[in-house]
Amino acid sequence: MSLHLKALPSLSDNYIWLIINDADSSAIIIDPGRSEPCTRFLTQENINPIAILVTHRHWDHVEGIEKLVEVYDLPVYGPASENIPCRSKALEIGDRFKLPDFPLNFEVIDLSGHTEGHIGYLTDGMFFSGDTLFSSGCGRLLGGTALQLHNSLQRIKALPRDLTIYCTHEYTIDNLHFALKVEPDNEEIQLRLDEAKALRSNNQPTLPFTIDQEILYNPFLRTDRQSIKNAVAQHSGQDIETSEDCFRYLRLWKDGF
Ligand SMILES: [Zn+2]
Repeated sequence: MSLHLKALPSLSDNYIWLIINDADSSAIIIDPGRSEPCTRFLTQENINPIAILVTHRHWDHVEGIEKLVEVYDLPVYGPASENIPCRSKALEIGDRFKLPDFPLNFEVIDLSGHTEGHIGYLTDGMFFSGDTLFSSGCGRLLGGTALQLHNSLQRIKALPRDLTIYCTHEYTIDNLHFALKVEPDNEEIQLRLDEAKALRSNNQPTLPFTIDQEILYNPFLRTDRQSIKNAVAQHSGQDIETSEDCFRYLRLWKDGF
């Protein structure tokens, strides 16, 4: 099996991920907020798309679908509980599926919180996290609850630590500046910031990343730590006991950052 991943920049800071099977030049498209970056790349590289996977309903993840379906006649997989254009396969949490002639099995993971029905796609060594887990950050609450998003991040944290995570926005540098506010003494944040700046200055994505790596500096994966609880308590003026409390007020802090 020989697969490779390609990040197509879209809009101001989105990535559309393609999983490309080198054996037959077929590809799966994930969260096409625009069709043009996809059609341009697929034509240039002579790659044949076979399906679209969608993590959630937001326009910057779905607006390219209609045109791609028109051009390539593709099946569209997306969460059953959200309104996804042209959806042909409605997915429920825990569903497992395989695409014809593509060498991967996918499992649907509950990532509710950013939206009420957001899902993630787990497959061989890879996880597509949409707008739920970003590098050094997480999605905003735009439909779901803080508790849902907290629990979704804990679910990701419980996946194998060496999984490679593919998210859909280039927010890493901004997120790291916030992380430094929360944990000024965490040297891992500065190391990752230096790395991210070097990548961006060469116009390279700061993605993907691993959970192993992310757990060292992403404050939203560290809400069980006393140092983060103390910082959040001081900023919010609230008593912070649990990881959920810490997450709720950390998310609010970031919203106003
Ligand atoms: Zn979104």
